[in-house]
Amino acid sequence: MGLIREKYQDSLSKFAFMLIVFFLATATRGEWLLVIVYMFRDQLQGMMGRQGVQMPPSGDYNITDPPGPLLETLKLQNVHWFVLMAISTSFVMYYGLAYGWHYYYYVNRRHLAKEWKCQPDKFLTPENERHEILLGSMNMLIGSVCSGIIACFIINGGYCKMYYDISERGWAYFISSLVGFFMYNETMAYYLHRLFHRPWLYKKIHKMHHRYHQPTAWSAVAMHPAEFLMYQGYLAATPFLIPIHVFPFLFVLLYSYYYGLCDHSGIKMGAIWPWQPHSYFHDNHHKHFHVNFGFNTYFFDWFHDTLRKEDRVYGEDNFGGHGRQSLKSE
Ligand SMILES: [Zn+2]
Ligand SMILES: [Zn+2]
Repeated sequence: MGLIREKYQDSLSKFAFMLIVFFLATATRGEWLLVIVYMFRDQLQGMMGRQGVQMPPSGDYNITDPPGPLLETLKLQNVHWFVLMAISTSFVMYYGLAYGWHYYYYVNRRHLAKEWKCQPDKFLTPENERHEILLGSMNMLIGSVCSGIIACFIINGGYCKMYYDISERGWAYFISSLVGFFMYNETMAYYLHRLFHRPWLYKKIHKMHHRYHQPTAWSAVAMHPAEFLMYQGYLAATPFLIPIHVFPFLFVLLYSYYYGLCDHSGIKMGAIWPWQPHSYFHDNHHKHFHVNFGFNTYFFDWFHDTLRKEDRVYGEDNFGGHGRQSLKSE
């Protein structure tokens, strides 16, 4: 009887774990599985332990051993489940969210485009729609595999500098790491994005993202895989390099993913945060190309004078971020 109850509890906890991951993990990119892992690391480690997955002592690995011990030594046991979970949840959430917006606005309210659309007279061509869904899906797949591996590594007790108790480093560190990580994300995003707008890199790599002149939610992750990995890489690497509390890390991650989706939706959307640009801002980046390079603040565009100006003319061949003087005849 006790054995049956134990088995029942085990399956229930396994099911609860799958359910939590399913609903909360990987919304727009693969990394949301990490949210669960970072938030519930201790509980999940306990759960994995109860299911009989035990870590061997480190240094026990021999090159001739079968793959099991190798994965355990690398702290990657059961990695296939994590990768599968990351892929399935990210695809369900990404398609669900993007299709929900698409259906509500682009299908049902297409005739009311003037009320809700940033560029009401123009829509993406069906060919580009297919392109962004395919390219986005490919990046989702790459991102999910990476997140699955990282999530598995952390659950299995892999090296990570993230901490969970604020008192460990105090409130001053907590608050400055929140502001610092937000600014780090924006600084990297602005300068990398601006670098991708240099003529050579633009034509070879970033132009792929700019074929969507009227972006939609699907466009948010539709870019050259090298560019996608670069943006994901500097965020995912942070908790392995500097001590950061779980809250500031997840807040900035989710914040930038959420506004990444809004900014590409093509739908007029403001933000409750005074520093966060309206969705027009990035929509204009897709409309005018080499201008408005920031994502979560106006700061760097203001500082480098790359904010779009009504009296300047922009275009895909007009590099530099400042446009050119408008002529009366234009
Ligand atoms: Zn761009
Ligand atoms: Zn974009």
